[in-house]
Amino acid sequence: MVDEHLIRRGISDPEVLKAFRKVWRHHFVPSSFETDAYQDYPLPIGHGQTISQPYMVALMTESLRLKSGSNVLEVGTGSGYQAAILAEVCRRVCTVEREAPLLERAKKILSEEGCKNIDFRCGDGTEGWEEEAPFDGIVVTAAAPSVPGVLKEQLAEGGHLVIPVGTMYGQMLVSIEKKGDDFIQRDICGCIFVPLIGKYGWSE
Ligand code: SAM
Repeated sequence: MVDEHLIRRGISDPEVLKAFRKVWRHHFVPSSFETDAYQDYPLPIGHGQTISQPYMVALMTESLRLKSGSNVLEVGTGSGYQAAILAEVCRRVCTVEREAPLLERAKKILSEEGCKNIDFRCGDGTEGWEEEAPFDGIVVTAAAPSVPGVLKEQLAEGGHLVIPVGTMYGQMLVSIEKKGDDFIQRDICGCIFVPLIGKYGWSE
């Protein structure tokens, strides 16, 4: 998976590649999909949600430009796979999921995997996690209609917010870097994610 789907498509951060070699994706997918775990596509995880495509997880993680000391927020825990990758790359991960059963499942798997530097919250991640801010990186793993201002406000100086923005049917993955009072936005690539539901996302 790493050679064929990540390196060949341009993922080059050694720490990100090391994390993908260490974390087993088949531990995070339902047993009926285990044989597909190392293919480059999303898979269902229940509750109408998905574990994202490995290349997309790698691209989002690399785009955060994390360092070993970084504090990162993930909105949309889902299976817990991206949280496990982030936990390998940086000091601390705060992850928020709105679907309680998914969060419980992810917590159990991540505990079995021995991840100790992840904090969990069940709730609306469009509001961020103010008490744990500022974050060196914020990754939103569901599609937003627009960039929630409150997430920009929770970025540390030099931090990056990576988020898919667009309609329910197609989005642009963008990176927003905080530089002083400015936010520099860059397009990364087109993508398709499940909707971000919440106060600063889509309504239910
Ligand atoms: N990062 C996940 C993984 O590695 O499996 C993939 C997440 S899935 C593509 C998107 C997740 O975002 C879903 O689990 C969904 O329930 C969650 N979600 C949607 N809106 C949310 C919100 N406002 N706050 C937190 N989680 C949300």
